[in-house]
Amino acid sequence: MEFFAQIPFAFHVAYVVFIGLCIGSFANVCIYRMPLKESLVFPGSHCPSCNSAIKIYDNIPVLGYLLLQGKCRNCKTRISARYPLVEALTAALMTGVFLKFGFTWECLAYLIVTPALVIITAIDLEHQIIPDALTLPGIVLGLAAGSYIMGPINSIIGFLVGGGLFYGIAVASPFIFGKEGMGGGDIKYIAGVGALLGWKSVLLVIFVGSFLGAVVGLVQKLFMGKGSQIPFGPYLAAATYIVIMAGDELIRLYIQLVV
Ligand SMILES: [Zn+2]
Repeated sequence: MEFFAQIPFAFHVAYVVFIGLCIGSFANVCIYRMPLKESLVFPGSHCPSCNSAIKIYDNIPVLGYLLLQGKCRNCKTRISARYPLVEALTAALMTGVFLKFGFTWECLAYLIVTPALVIITAIDLEHQIIPDALTLPGIVLGLAAGSYIMGPINSIIGFLVGGGLFYGIAVASPFIFGKEGMGGGDIKYIAGVGALLGWKSVLLVIFVGSFLGAVVGLVQKLFMGKGSQIPFGPYLAAATYIVIMAGDELIRLYIQLVV
């Protein structure tokens, strides 16, 4: 840590942004290939339309997209704006984590989790699934990092509270609401969040996620005349990031307003 302290802070921020952009680029690969169960490393990036390999200089995060004006160099098919958006968002969210937590092990754990939140959001929006390839390693990381941050007992209690609550909803929903209420991916996801953040924070994640879902659903109903078709995963992912960044402030605000 002594060595890091010698380097100007702006330089640290600059390389976190740079690493964030590169990981965002890899997140795009995960978003496209994980639901298809394709390899993440082989073959290299290629245009989904004409299949031509993407040149290394066209593959530069965000900049490559801007220089190509959002079109494939070979076949001129439009490239989805999702690619630069995912890259920029991943870099921005990871930089936020670094600014808040600095050089701590906590920071490292959250820097690993953050790109996964972006990937989960994009995949769940498009395919209505949260892949095991993300949630199962997430549970392992959650238990390891959570045990380090708040002790193994708290981590396991968080895992059981999060997973148990959603599992209960999944079992009860068909009887109460007459339909499926919770996917297996959601259960594994929230169990991992509970393991990482503990039982209080996982309850807050569920509350904030439900609140966001209700607000977006209401806006859609008012302005588009139909209920929300968005799955729960993106709201849970957004809520997880919010609780990581501002969970303590939210709890303080809640206590001030209610007590
Ligand atoms: Zn092409």
